[in-house]
Amino acid sequence: MLAFEVKLGTRGYLSLRNTDNGVRDLDYDIIVAGGGPAGMTAAIYSGRAGWKTVLFDPMGGGGQAGTTDMVYNYPGFPDGVSGPELMELMANQARAFGVKIEYEEVQKVVHSDADAGFKVDVGHEVHGARAVIYASGTLPRKLGVPGEEKYLAKGISFCATCDGALFRDKVVAVVGGGDSALTEAVFLTKFAKEVLLIHRRDEFRAGLATVKRVETNPKIKMLLSSVVESVRGEEVLTGVSVRDLKTGETRDLDVQGLFLYVGWSPNVEPVRHLVETDEYGYVITNEDMSTKTPGLFVAGDVRRKPLRQITTAVGDGATAAWSAEKYLLERG
Ligand SMILES: Cc1cc2nc3c(=O)[nH]c(=O)nc-3n(C[C@H](O)[C@H](O)[C@H](O)COP(=O)(O)OP(=O)(O)OC[C@H]3O[C@@H](n4cnc5c(N)ncnc54)[C@H](O)[C@@H]3O)c2cc1C
Repeated sequence: MLAFEVKLGTRGYLSLRNTDNGVRDLDYDIIVAGGGPAGMTAAIYSGRAGWKTVLFDPMGGGGQAGTTDMVYNYPGFPDGVSGPELMELMANQARAFGVKIEYEEVQKVVHSDADAGFKVDVGHEVHGARAVIYASGTLPRKLGVPGEEKYLAKGISFCATCDGALFRDKVVAVVGGGDSALTEAVFLTKFAKEVLLIHRRDEFRAGLATVKRVETNPKIKMLLSSVVESVRGEEVLTGVSVRDLKTGETRDLDVQGLFLYVGWSPNVEPVRHLVETDEYGYVITNEDMSTKTPGLFVAGDVRRKPLRQITTAVGDGATAAWSAEKYLLERG
């Protein structure tokens, strides 16, 4: 069993020491939760400014950007940049500025009191922080149709970059009508012999250039004004039932892969009690990324904002780190 000794740290904040295995210091100036572009940027700025910083991410970082095959709209890369490569560059930059990156999932952030700062629980140990930057991004939404739970990871995927190659010469379906759905549908044509693009409306909510790439791709077949009603299979997924919303007709289609891009839910549970959220669950922050809890800053897709992109996540991360530094300096 873990035991902790609580001491007053050198800068007047709580120091938690695991007394079971001796002297390990679990204190940080800044703890960053989440290693997508927002968290990585916050860590780069915090580390570079000399704050003792750790970044926790159960995947070790990368975020959604790290699962994107190619990014064509990040400044400085006119021919595009691979998402995993971009995120690896950010992680290396953070490490070069002294940031520790650890494979941990933040379970709960507790604001102990105004002077002590925060306790950040990662499940098997608790860390102390004077300020926390929370940048956990969003989780993909499911369809909520019969059969879906059974075939998650057995044909149903949220990541074409991760799983697309498993469907070489097979028929796959992509559900959604935004930029992510369309971009990934095009990506999947590298492997699949046919990609069915199923969208509930009769027009897309994506950039014109992306729509054009879809419309001109001979491997993509569009099923507009259509919804998936159920999925079926045996050991793995073998098909979907699709209803045409205009005619009411339902068709059974044979597909071996189903990629879902129907929206995202903010991942706020560890800080829910410390922040305000909007009607969709996104964290409401001030312009400087501060929240109603002093010392807790929230950055990236998890917060309420008009545009969720790598560029805006990077901007949020920089602002959050700047604000955290200001907060720490003001407190002495
Ligand atoms: C398929 C797809 C294609 C995209 N293409 C583009 C594009 O071309 N250009 C563009 O600009 N944007 C693109 N985006 C959007 C872009 O990826 C996101 O806006 C951006 O990654 C958001 O960054 P973030 O750091 O806020 O969150 P994320 O990238 O989602 O990162 C959040 C991180 O937090 C971690 N995490 C979650 N919970 C916890 C926890 N409790 N404790 C610790 N860590 C936690 C996660 O593991 C994850 O690594 C795309 C997104 C998708 C899904």
